[in-house]
Amino acid sequence: MEMPESVDTLKARMHAKIRALGKAGLFLSGTFVRKRRRCGNPACACANGGEPHSAYAVTSKVAGKTKAIYIPVGLADEVEQWTNEYKRIKKLMKEIDELAERVIRLHVPRARAAKRRNAILASTTETSSEP
Ligand SMILES: [Zn+2]
Repeated sequence: MEMPESVDTLKARMHAKIRALGKAGLFLSGTFVRKRRRCGNPACACANGGEPHSAYAVTSKVAGKTKAIYIPVGLADEVEQWTNEYKRIKKLMKEIDELAERVIRLHVPRARAAKRRNAILASTTETSSEP
C-alpha cells in the first residue's frame, strides 16, 4: 500500500503539516493531571466520609525535574484543551521530522550520483557550472 516516495510528494506532505501547525490554537506544554485530595480541614465533608476534592495541575520536565503548575478549578477545562493542543502540535512536529528525514535519505544517493556525474563532466569539459 506504500507508494514509492518522491522528494516532491514528501515535501508537499511537510507543507500540509506545517499549514496545520499554523492553525494551532492556544497551547501549553505539559501533561494535564487530575488529582483527588483531602483539604486537611477536619470539619470539611472530605474528612468525614465525603468525596475528596478535585485538584488540577500541569506537569512538565524542566532540566530533568518535574515541575507542576496548579490550575484553578475554573480554568481546568480550558487549560486541559491547551495541553491537548500541545499534544497535537508535538505529534505534527514529529511527523514533519520523520518526513524531513526521508527527504534527506532520498537525497543522499542522488547527491552522490550527481557528484560522480559532475566529476566525470569536469574531467572531460572545462565548463561545468551546474547550480
Ligand atoms: Zn475538604
